[in-house]
Amino acid sequence: MELKQFIQMQYMKPSEIIKLQEKRLRKIIKFAYENTELYRKKMKVANVTPDDIKTIKDLEKLPFSSKADIVQNPLAAVGDKANLFKLHTTSGTSGKGETIVYFTYNDWDHYVLQNARCLISAGFTKDDIVYNSTPYGLFFAGQVLHDGAKAIGAFIIPASTLKTGWAHIKNIMNPFFKPTAFIGLPQYFLRWGHTWIKAGGDPSKSTLKKAYVLGEPVPPPVREKIEQIWGVDCRIGYGLSEIGASAECDEKDGYHWCEDEVIVEVIDPQTGEPVDEGEKGELVYTTLTKTGTLAIRYRSGDESALLGRDCPCGRTHVKLRLIETRLDDLMKVKGTLVSPYTIENAMFAYDIEGFLCVIDKVEDSDVVRIYVKAQESKALRNQLSDEIKTTAKFSPTFIKFVEELPQIGRKGRRVVDLRKKSPLNKLVEEFEKSIQN
Ligand SMILES: [Zn+2]
Repeated sequence: MELKQFIQMQYMKPSEIIKLQEKRLRKIIKFAYENTELYRKKMKVANVTPDDIKTIKDLEKLPFSSKADIVQNPLAAVGDKANLFKLHTTSGTSGKGETIVYFTYNDWDHYVLQNARCLISAGFTKDDIVYNSTPYGLFFAGQVLHDGAKAIGAFIIPASTLKTGWAHIKNIMNPFFKPTAFIGLPQYFLRWGHTWIKAGGDPSKSTLKKAYVLGEPVPPPVREKIEQIWGVDCRIGYGLSEIGASAECDEKDGYHWCEDEVIVEVIDPQTGEPVDEGEKGELVYTTLTKTGTLAIRYRSGDESALLGRDCPCGRTHVKLRLIETRLDDLMKVKGTLVSPYTIENAMFAYDIEGFLCVIDKVEDSDVVRIYVKAQESKALRNQLSDEIKTTAKFSPTFIKFVEELPQIGRKGRRVVDLRKKSPLNKLVEEFEKSIQN
């Protein structure tokens, strides 16, 4: 499909979107039943046949699937095994192991179009010089955004991951590069800005004008800091390698979901029942155009709400509220349920460069140790402590100011729960030991 036509599909009448979804749904369910082990088995157990699925409402008859299904047997979710082209993996951040996602050429073409659409929605144009700092390799974001930027006709600097933040800053400063648009992980981008300022530079004077950040929930103060420090217009993207991608438009108020490609439902994570529009719940996806790894009523573990189809930008694809929480990441601390997003939102409201919040159990009690990279001050310590108490409903055991913070995992986790087993815990323990010495 041509990009122009694909972009135009974001402006279809809602009745036409539903008609298209239902046509594609009937076809893909039949295909899944005939070609995949996983979904045929699930449908047989639930006593449902492809003939039972005609409308969106009929989706409720289908059993759920999840990441665990794909982790356990990645090929069982694949339809067209004869035409596979490549695979990508996602790290098991939720402790459920690595997900392998298979693509046919056609699947990849669709993903590239989706990402081109995201970049256009985020304000990127063919005139941009795109600095892509997302990793190229098994992780799919770098490559799919590269191909998406190519599809819109932009010039690309394929930086990928580099050993240090300085290496990126040097590239951004290179007078022959002159990037105008940034793609990458928000916390890295913010950190490089701080590094540059500390060295006496001014990131807002760089040639960058816009940023598309993705890969983790972005609390409002983090976006504000990025925009202020770098002097860019920052848009947030959201995607899953097994599902698809979406991005904010000029309104910066939710992502336009790619409804022609994937049906999204919102359910109560406890009961599995659908919730009303505007209400929060777990996002459940059904892919409509892929034939490699299929996702049918796939529980994402991401929490959001549907915001409706009316948007001043004119796009009619339903908007999703910005993701704040992965349900798997919710933790009980001192008896209260809290998400890392809540803690990040509270901490970044203040003038800090970064932090690490360690949750641990000592003598049967929960303890919370917070390390902050900022100028040490008693007033700031008290402000942070009060903010955590108000928003996260627990008191930190201590807040310590440090000069450096460790990088915990590929995405740089800022909240680590040592009560849960993870290979990342060792890094935290080593860091805490080094601080004591
Ligand atoms: Zn819009």
